[in-house]
Amino acid sequence: MSFRGGRHFLQIPGPTNVPDRVLRAMDMPTMDHRGPDFAVLGRQVLDGMKRVFRTEGAVVIYPGSGTGAWEAALVNTLSPGDRVLMCETGQFSTLWTQLAKRLGLEVDLIAGDWRSGADADAIGARLAADKGHAIKAVCVVHNETSTGVTSRIAPVRKAMDAAGHPALLMVDTISSLASIDYRHDEWGVDVTIAGSQKGLMLPPGLGFNAIGARALKAAESSRMPKSYWAWSEMLGPNEKGYFPYTPATNILYGLREALVMLLDEEGLDNALARHDRLAEATRRAVRGWGLEILCRNEAEYSASLTAVTMPAGHDADALRKVILEKFDMSLGAGLGRLAGKVFRIGHLGHFNELMLMGTLAGVEMGLAAAGVPHKPAGVQAAMAYLSGRRND
Ligand SMILES: *Cc1c(COP(=O)(O)O)cnc(C)c1O
Repeated sequence: MSFRGGRHFLQIPGPTNVPDRVLRAMDMPTMDHRGPDFAVLGRQVLDGMKRVFRTEGAVVIYPGSGTGAWEAALVNTLSPGDRVLMCETGQFSTLWTQLAKRLGLEVDLIAGDWRSGADADAIGARLAADKGHAIKAVCVVHNETSTGVTSRIAPVRKAMDAAGHPALLMVDTISSLASIDYRHDEWGVDVTIAGSQKGLMLPPGLGFNAIGARALKAAESSRMPKSYWAWSEMLGPNEKGYFPYTPATNILYGLREALVMLLDEEGLDNALARHDRLAEATRRAVRGWGLEILCRNEAEYSASLTAVTMPAGHDADALRKVILEKFDMSLGAGLGRLAGKVFRIGHLGHFNELMLMGTLAGVEMGLAAAGVPHKPAGVQAAMAYLSGRRND
């Protein structure tokens, strides 16, 4: 490994850059998680996360990855052999589907083109056809991180209600929470899943469930085997700020700091607006290069990341390798069936205009260095948008 001066640019759509002050907040002696100080920290982060999920209901925090929080949502509410309706939006919905099958659930899949979000009408039609209410849950990935497509959740809820179907609605917000508008209570979501290492600006290591009243009720009769993930074990100790087992104490210190930044200093709405602005600048850059945005429908553009389609005959991984070697920047790879076909620019979390301009300059220089056909007008288009300069 050769020496690299300056900072590495970590522009994958998670894990994201961690603010220095969050790292410093975590640089603390490990505390007694059964002692009185921990209870204060525990309640602060649990209450703060309710505000981020926009819920009055319960939130649980696991030491674990987002994948664990997916599993927790299913095993706490369902029983062996139950049927769930999954919407294929890309690689993450595919992984969640595989997880559900491995747990012994029956999966109905609404197939997708990996360029579009979950189709509320299709969900409504499947539920309307399910007269016997065999489907127990509808699972949607809010922001599909493999494609840069954000599904609209309110219309999904509306379609479920219109079908008069009692299935639970479970939504993965691992790459959207605190980056893209999300409303657990208002949108009638039953379980929301999240993780620490994306919009929350933390290192990997925490998984979250926000739990609505109907999901809590379903948990009472759920027969899936569970122990580590059991909400019933968590919620009692959580009331006083404690955990049933050792929490990831130092990441919770980081979470407390990140919540101060998000909720008290920047404000959640301002953080969302910042993501929208930086995402729009990124899309203008992509169009300036003459390249294609993978997301088909403007109303589903992601504010967390942009997936860019490579021109035919050019390999995205070769481009990413040149950019990493020459400019010390990591971009997201194409995942699953998109391997080699797209690269992904992460623009979420701890991020601002000049970090974005550095990122876009790295891509534009990389396109030239790798011999990928493009127009050298992306950086300029993004600067024009961010500075308010007319682009003429
Ligand atoms: C990152 C991500 C996951 C997986 O989370 P892990 O923490 O890697 O387990 C799941 N869903 C989405 C939408 C993601 O972005």
